[in-house]
Amino acid sequence: MAFIQGTLEEVYIFLGPRTSDIVTQLARPHRKKNGIRKSCGELNNDGSICKQYTGLHAAHLKGRERKILIQEILEEFGEKITNITYKIDLNLFEEEFKKKHENFHDVIKFMCPKHHKNYDLNNGIDSSKEDPIIDFEEIEEIIEISELIENEDPLDTLLKNKDFVLSAFEKIKLMNNQDEIILTITDPEKCKQLFNLDFAILIEINKITEDLHRRYYSKDIFIDHYGNEYKITNHWFKLQIEAFENWLNNSK
Ligand SMILES: [Zn+2]
Ligand SMILES: [Zn+2]
Repeated sequence: MAFIQGTLEEVYIFLGPRTSDIVTQLARPHRKKNGIRKSCGELNNDGSICKQYTGLHAAHLKGRERKILIQEILEEFGEKITNITYKIDLNLFEEEFKKKHENFHDVIKFMCPKHHKNYDLNNGIDSSKEDPIIDFEEIEEIIEISELIENEDPLDTLLKNKDFVLSAFEKIKLMNNQDEIILTITDPEKCKQLFNLDFAILIEINKITEDLHRRYYSKDIFIDHYGNEYKITNHWFKLQIEAFENWLNNSK
């Protein structure tokens, strides 16, 4: 058994990232309603409804902020050591933290970053401390793409495509003509011609611009044999995958 002992503030600091991750995991299956992704749905200034559905945050509702949930758990399940310090078993803590999200939509509302910020401002929530900013972007992006492929589970497609792409780059690492290959797949025009991709497959990390950011996997990078680092595009449809696979097989 592992325990944490400290004040609410200390527990919050140490378990903050962990609880963020849990919220991200719990949030995923709630992103769709009857198979349709939910959009932000908050009101714009002109009274229209916000239709943004990518890059949404999982915002804790007023009174259900993470810190409040943590405090409730410490008070109910922790051992009070002094007036302000608690001790709690970490497994018990996680279990109870998950239980707090059982009625998910009483705790979390998906909002676009702009409306999330407004919501926090209007409710006196310190957003710099409070909400985990959840990076759904990568998943959203691929869901958007894979929705064009009927009868495939988007998350499944996401993972399959990504697995394929990452294993392709493992192969490239071992290829003698790596330089040649990289020359081609960092060239946007050639990627358009050969694979009908709208973005270069690889882009040097220091060349990526703000608007291209979303088109590349956020965490997985490719390092060539000189040690140069590249981001890998996430913009794969079935056809592009097949074209890339064929080309790669013929490039050996
Ligand atoms: Zn919005
Ligand atoms: Zn918030």
